[in-house]
Amino acid sequence: MPTTTIVVLGAGVSGLTCALQLAKRPGNAVTVVAKHMPGDYDTEYTSPWAGANVLPMADRANSRWERRTWPELRRLAKEVPAAGIHLQTARVLRREKDVAAGASGGLSDALFALNPWYQELMDDYRELGRDELGTGMHSGCEFTSVCINTAIYLPWLVSQCLALGVVFRRGVLGHVSEAAGLSHTGQRADLVVNASGLLAYRLGGVMDRAVYPVRGQIVVVRNEAPQGIMLAPSGVDGPEGEISYAMTRAAGGGTVIGGTYQKGNWDGNPDWNTAVRIMQRAVELLPGLADGKGIEGLSIIRHGVGLRPGRDGGVRIEKEIIDGTWVVHNYGHAGWGYQGSYGCAERVLELVDEIAGQVKSKL
Ligand code: FAD
Repeated sequence: MPTTTIVVLGAGVSGLTCALQLAKRPGNAVTVVAKHMPGDYDTEYTSPWAGANVLPMADRANSRWERRTWPELRRLAKEVPAAGIHLQTARVLRREKDVAAGASGGLSDALFALNPWYQELMDDYRELGRDELGTGMHSGCEFTSVCINTAIYLPWLVSQCLALGVVFRRGVLGHVSEAAGLSHTGQRADLVVNASGLLAYRLGGVMDRAVYPVRGQIVVVRNEAPQGIMLAPSGVDGPEGEISYAMTRAAGGGTVIGGTYQKGNWDGNPDWNTAVRIMQRAVELLPGLADGKGIEGLSIIRHGVGLRPGRDGGVRIEKEIIDGTWVVHNYGHAGWGYQGSYGCAERVLELVDEIAGQVKSKL
């Protein structure tokens, strides 16, 4: 069987998921090249900072990525404990004032829609009863979702790739086409998968000025949410760009509380006033998180900031030839890179097949 030589640029959730799915195909020789790898914490490397859970954000027309990812994340949660994913109950709350204003406080209008498309995707979706809603809430819904401990899941993806022969190399690339010369096979790669996330903004050959940061400030605490409830209200009172959520990670990963959704903000440092508001809202929403003791009852592991890779026009998954190298782009996943990871990788593989067919037919 002829070999297709592939270099994946990027070791975030997008690159690693693509590398794993590509490596499962016989005949693919896959190398991953990245500046940052799982284990690193850097503001410009988004994946380790994510919660991460599944709260569908796309509208129905753009739901393929999330639709096609959910079955695999649910399977991993049920059948593969080593992946660091567990089932948790998501509770989405629509505030009266947000419903009246037709706004979602910045996170996602589709998530807070009154009759959301994803009710057909989530097995046990139900609307909350009036007696389950707090003051000021218009309505809400609940369904079984997952929470991913990214500190376990990203290395798990690496280990799955290694078991299939993927080779990992560190590299800081000035131009996307340099990746083609970095295959571990010593041959020039037939194609490059560009999963460079936010850094697509300044990667030579791409320089995508539609990409922008969406700043996410978080606090990770040792406390666990009562009954594993992951709360997401449609908005908060306070400065623009602030949101509220909490999710308890699998396998002792603590609880990630957030947060912010600040478009165009590159600041990688935690703001302490924001941190206090994040914690205050979390204990108001989930008093049991701190045993009713307020923020004094929170045991902080760390404060952090990650920059989500936003993109005007949405995610970019397409192929093009750059300086003679076939490139399949997969970047710009904003706040849904995990919950869309397998769906996006599926599309990347379709594009890789198209390119591999063309490359081989010329031999
Ligand atoms: P990244 O993780 O940034 O990886 C990019 C990779 O490309 C890195 O390895 C980097 O080193 C490499 N790279 C880039 N340029 C170069 C270069 N020139 N040379 C070499 N290497 C290069 N998503 C969810 O699905 N659910 C959630 O609950 C969720 N919560 C979030 C909460 C916060 C606070 C944040 C910040 C994000 C959250 N997200 C969530 C979004 C999710 O984290 C991102 O969409 C996702 O991590 C993007 O992954 P990526 O692989 O595309 O990019």
